[in-house]
Amino acid sequence: MHTSLLVSNRGARVMIDCGLDWLGKLKRIDPSAIVLTHAHPDHAWGLKRGAPCPVYAPEKTWQELRHYPIKERRLIKERTPTKICGITFEAFSVEHSILSPAVGYRVSAGRARIFYAPDLIFIHERGAALQGVQIYVGDGATVTRSFIRKRGRALIGHSPVRTQLTWCEKGGVPRAIITHCGSEMVTGDERKISEKLRAIGAERGVDVRIAYDGMKVTKTARTE
Ligand SMILES: [Zn+2]
Ligand SMILES: [Zn+2]
Repeated sequence: MHTSLLVSNRGARVMIDCGLDWLGKLKRIDPSAIVLTHAHPDHAWGLKRGAPCPVYAPEKTWQELRHYPIKERRLIKERTPTKICGITFEAFSVEHSILSPAVGYRVSAGRARIFYAPDLIFIHERGAALQGVQIYVGDGATVTRSFIRKRGRALIGHSPVRTQLTWCEKGGVPRAIITHCGSEMVTGDERKISEKLRAIGAERGVDVRIAYDGMKVTKTARTE
């Protein structure tokens, strides 16, 4: 299945991204809302036939999805915290694609804070994005190889996990979960790759896990 993250808080279930694999399967998940990072097929095309709930996305993503029969369209502005079903989402622009500009989300509920960016080369305003974040959920396209291409003056592609773990170290983020894994991780020896990742993480003081389908991570959100 295409990578997606379900954030739940007090009965609300917000789904981040909805790739083509999810087409026709949304009723079963029954999300309260859907939030999109960008309009690539593996992140948004599951909404081709509409959505059973409000959908939140940045302006540029909406432009690409303008023909989709989505009724409840909501705009997310970058760097503007937006409350969705009691969970706060703040979009940060990330470098990834020229045609489908992407964002990552800083998600907070109570004291729990995560940052989610399934596709990226780097985060603009990374310091603010990772401030106080307990779990970084990042791009697993590649472990150490570079998937970055130049298109004129812009860059497109993905940064290796190693680079992302260095950001975590610099930003004081103690845990990372790697998702949206590329062929290097999917077809490789799982144990070896997991060991390699842990070693890269350990050097940087970051506890790293590879995400799997149905993975659940609980962050207790204390409310004051
Ligand atoms: Zn993408
Ligand atoms: Zn993707």
